[in-house]
Amino acid sequence: MIHPGAPREPEGMATGAGGCADTPILRERGQREVFCGLTGIIWLHRKIQDAFFLVVGSRTCAHLLQSAAGVMIFAEPRFATAIIEERDLAGLADANEELDRVVTRLIQRRPDIRMLFLVGSCPSEVIKLDLSRAAQRLSQRFSPGVRVLNYSGSGIETTFTEGEDACLAALVPEMPAEPGTARSLLVVGALAEVVEDQFIRLFAALGVGPVRFLPSRRASELPAVGEGTRFLLAQPFLAGTARALEARGARHIPAPFPLGEEGTTAWLRAAAEVWGIGEERFAQATAQGRERARAALANHRATLDGKSIFFFPDSQLELPLARFLSRELGMKPIEIGTPYLHRQHLAHELALLPAAANLVEGQHVDRQLDRCREARPDMTVCGLGLANPLEAEGLTTKWSIELVFSPIQGYDQAGDLAGLFARPLVRREKLKV
Ligand code: SF4
Repeated sequence: MIHPGAPREPEGMATGAGGCADTPILRERGQREVFCGLTGIIWLHRKIQDAFFLVVGSRTCAHLLQSAAGVMIFAEPRFATAIIEERDLAGLADANEELDRVVTRLIQRRPDIRMLFLVGSCPSEVIKLDLSRAAQRLSQRFSPGVRVLNYSGSGIETTFTEGEDACLAALVPEMPAEPGTARSLLVVGALAEVVEDQFIRLFAALGVGPVRFLPSRRASELPAVGEGTRFLLAQPFLAGTARALEARGARHIPAPFPLGEEGTTAWLRAAAEVWGIGEERFAQATAQGRERARAALANHRATLDGKSIFFFPDSQLELPLARFLSRELGMKPIEIGTPYLHRQHLAHELALLPAAANLVEGQHVDRQLDRCREARPDMTVCGLGLANPLEAEGLTTKWSIELVFSPIQGYDQAGDLAGLFARPLVRREKLKV
């Protein structure tokens, strides 16, 4: 959904923590054009195969999910919307009863559900409902068969990838405690299964393990966490989940994100170093993957080398993408906008970005559109709402949401990731003829 964003921090310039680490960061707080956190349900419900997502929301929320899902998935839905229509405060008791009725009916009809997420949204009727109490009440009623959790996907509080962060943070207290201090690696962030399987093989070849993933494929098989847990973030938008894991004793392994040959190698190396793996074994385990990635990237370099690119803030993947596209494919980032910049999690990325790029945190969409029109980049990465108008003005665009729905991490996806950026440019060239 497109929402005017509420300012959370003052506007102004801030200094990043080399590459771009010392570049001033422009903070903007104005109208935002982003999808809300409900969007994450589309990929999370496919990933966690015994979970169900019940949005407590309005018809707008139901339409968002139906249209996004209709376009992007072909599977039996494990999500729905409980529509809470206009009610005043006096109707709250009814709303709670209605929610209980909907959940009871759902659990009776779908005995495969092991975990139910009540997902909050923005309508004022929903904000008045205490969903965490509702989740506790319903969990007591349906335990031990079904756990009921809650998180917010509201557009007032979240951009579209923050919905995943909120969901995973809600899972952390449910993770069993790891007895003792035995070391294990937790990879955090929803990854396509094919990518997860590739990483399992790579970590096995490196001698790093045991390796677990959050989210797990089944909510009923959540990984254990404790003092010995070291975690790698697979996605840059998981600040809340990282905090929750640290509160349970886990320790973050700082690294760039696993995009491209360079990013994937640095990400794997960060874990290998914690496990004390020697350089020779590391080189052996990664050589073939690195070679495949380099060969696949070479196919796209001629199309992308030297092209300018402008990122509107949307997915929080903007910094790792800009680093990959500039360092491995020769693209020239003009402006890199991101909804939020977590300096600690993005420290490695900031250090690798070209110093000439303009870094922006937050959004003031009108000012950013002015800068984009003036710069006339070869490619603009933005949300769906901005893409069509900008295409009509002759700019070539890439939908940032596609980058969250596509498997893009790891060596074997590096070529596909480059292809996602090369294709719109090739298409525009063809249209010129
Ligand atoms: S949660 Fe808010 S922004 Fe998202 S679809 Fe519902 S009403 Fe719109």
